[in-house]
Amino acid sequence: VRRIAIVGGSLAGVHAAEALREHGFEGDVTLISAENELPYDRPPLSKEALLSGVAVERLSLRAPEWYEDNAITTRLGNAAVQLDTARRTVLLDDGTTVGYDGLVIATGSRARRLPSTENAPPVQVLRSIEDGLRLRERLRPGRHLVLIGAGFIGLEIAATVRQLGLDVTIVEVGLVPLSRALGDEVGAWFRALHARNGVEIVCTCTVETIERLGDGAVLTLSNGRVVNADVVVAGVGASPVTEWLDGSGVQTTNGVVCHSDLSTSVPGVVAAGDVARWYNPLFDEEIRVEHWTNAVEQGRRAAHTLLGHGEAFSAVPYFWTDQYEARMRFVGRASAASEVAIKELDDDRLVALYGRDGLVRGAVCVNVPRELARYRTAIRDQVLWGDVTEAPSAIGG
Ligand code: FAD
Repeated sequence: VRRIAIVGGSLAGVHAAEALREHGFEGDVTLISAENELPYDRPPLSKEALLSGVAVERLSLRAPEWYEDNAITTRLGNAAVQLDTARRTVLLDDGTTVGYDGLVIATGSRARRLPSTENAPPVQVLRSIEDGLRLRERLRPGRHLVLIGAGFIGLEIAATVRQLGLDVTIVEVGLVPLSRALGDEVGAWFRALHARNGVEIVCTCTVETIERLGDGAVLTLSNGRVVNADVVVAGVGASPVTEWLDGSGVQTTNGVVCHSDLSTSVPGVVAAGDVARWYNPLFDEEIRVEHWTNAVEQGRRAAHTLLGHGEAFSAVPYFWTDQYEARMRFVGRASAASEVAIKELDDDRLVALYGRDGLVRGAVCVNVPRELARYRTAIRDQVLWGDVTEAPSAIGG
């Protein structure tokens, strides 16, 4: 392998590049990104960066010199539009091609958008610095922001925007926020957290129409309510970016289908981060994880695989979210859980465990930082559900 191309200049891509150099790879490394900025961090976009103003330099994952020092060639503002795995070339949107011997697919995911209709006002999303700047511009105290979808990003935006003095209403199709991700009990806890902070979450409800009204919008909800908004934001999930791989032979099904070592259906091609779907032996299922830590760890592992040191990637997924004073940490998997046990629950703290097939599979801790490590170990070691749920909690449960 003499030339490695990395498509997707973000978290997974940068960590793949870094791991290649750490492993002594001395050939060419080219990092291709559709965005104009050097790779930057996304989690602050809905948290501190939205609160204090989105400063591009402060979000950078690596300083500009890092790319020079590590001889990483960057092709910014260039989207890959086609992959030719026979010739081993990536075609970019400016008509040029980049040849490779090894390829890392790290194109991540993009925010889902609502179908746009005539006379519809712009409904904003939050995925990129550009989105962040556009949204920040419209946040003025006293304005009313309507969020469609009470997922993690929507709830974080709500918490931040409240601190900026806006009124917030969230419209959520589920019974409670986060119900698909974390179940109804934990979702209800988050709903109460937001209610205490003055955010109304209208559940089991959808938006039927959105029309432009002056500079803002008027929304009709499925429960008959009509709501005026100055700003409308959709937080309705993300989809993996794979269309540029059509016809390349790289197998995709809701993400790039990977083997356990993150290699793909085509030799010399690996994938990492939000875009990668792989079999995780720990949970005995194929999963795709849209979390920060996963992108870092997979970027590194995919680079190792490309250099011939492939190993199964079986990390316990980890995720955090910060909303008001609540710091939630999550390990494992909750979505396919058949059992949920709440160990601690009051207005400030929460511990919930998720089980499946007689084993502990996931844990949520809010403002209980010390508990998380032992649950992570229990999930990794496949400890029996009963052994974990009956053990006393370290915080006196
Ligand atoms: P991405 O970050 O999606 O990057 C993919 C890159 O590839 C992008 O730069 C994209 O422009 C580029 N690209 C796409 N297509 C092409 C193409 N054809 N050619 C060239 N380049 C292309 N995770 C947590 O664990 N905790 C959090 O609190 C948290 N908060 C978040 C808040 C926000 C607002 C967002 C948007 C995400 C948050 N995440 C959080 C998720 C986390 O940021 C992602 O999991 C992570 O960014 C994934 O990294 P990635 O490199 O796989 O993909």
